[in-house]
Amino acid sequence: MSYPKEVIMQANALTAKRRADAEQIQRIRHTEITAKVPDVAKYEAELAKTGLEVVRALTMGEDAEKYIKGLAKQNLHIQELIGNELEKAGYPRDYLKTPYTCSVCSDTGFVEGVACECRKALLKELNVARLEKVSPARYCRFDNFDVSLYDSTVDPRYGFSPRERMGDIFEYCRCYADDFDESSCSLYMHGATGLGKTHLSLAIANVACAKGFNVLYYPAHNLLSLLEKEKFSGNSGETEQEVLDCDLLIIDDLGSEFSTQFTVSALYNIINTRFNLSKPVIISTNLNEEELEKRYTQRVTSRIIGYCESLLFVGRDVRQIKSEMQ
Ligand SMILES: [Zn+2]
Repeated sequence: MSYPKEVIMQANALTAKRRADAEQIQRIRHTEITAKVPDVAKYEAELAKTGLEVVRALTMGEDAEKYIKGLAKQNLHIQELIGNELEKAGYPRDYLKTPYTCSVCSDTGFVEGVACECRKALLKELNVARLEKVSPARYCRFDNFDVSLYDSTVDPRYGFSPRERMGDIFEYCRCYADDFDESSCSLYMHGATGLGKTHLSLAIANVACAKGFNVLYYPAHNLLSLLEKEKFSGNSGETEQEVLDCDLLIIDDLGSEFSTQFTVSALYNIINTRFNLSKPVIISTNLNEEELEKRYTQRVTSRIIGYCESLLFVGRDVRQIKSEMQ
């Protein structure tokens, strides 16, 4: 599990900004108080003196501990006096305390070399935001996937109703997301348009992102045209490396793009490399096997179908049903 480099850099920059802002506010307040409440400066000078005393006490040997305890008590007393002065002047008692966002790590992100809870939360938040920037992930969650929109009449072709099937797929995807890790299996979501393939793949992505996995989502046509552009502009490699390295790759709506010899070989290279490394991929398509073969050759199609867990989405276009209900 690894957060993407850009997420880590964003988190570092944001934490540093929080710290700098808090310290700037503290400096401004300090200047203000020094001018308006002169006794505070007097007490602060005493505090500085006890600080120096502590340093000196460290060389005292056996008696040091007792002496330092006494100094700490004295220190607390002076801080109390400063609080009293501030209160008398109409300020909050902690007005001179640096207003860090996180008082546990003082906005450094770490406590004794270990990531603070605030850093963990920030990384998750930025990771999810990164996914939301390139996809409708915000609107595609498990809690707003409505199985009741699917028909409950048994389809004689399959022997089950779309609702029954979609209920099973929904449960499968939810468990998949809950248990997701770098060695999860790959999924092949197929079936007609508007049946919730994008919704469920992004619901999985949301959960995986919030758990701290590096998830990349691409509509197939965006990914393949990006790879093509990079290849022919001479600076190829960056996107390809990212899609090979990430913890979960989602290729949505495969077959919607114009396929060429380049896209066929680029797609094969990506899925084959990831499959060989047992790295999960979620592929969704509206095409049936025959159509996929026509567009992407038998080699690509059989690699996908032979390797991935197949989820066949059935029913009527849910978007159409929703619009009929309005
Ligand atoms: Zn913290």
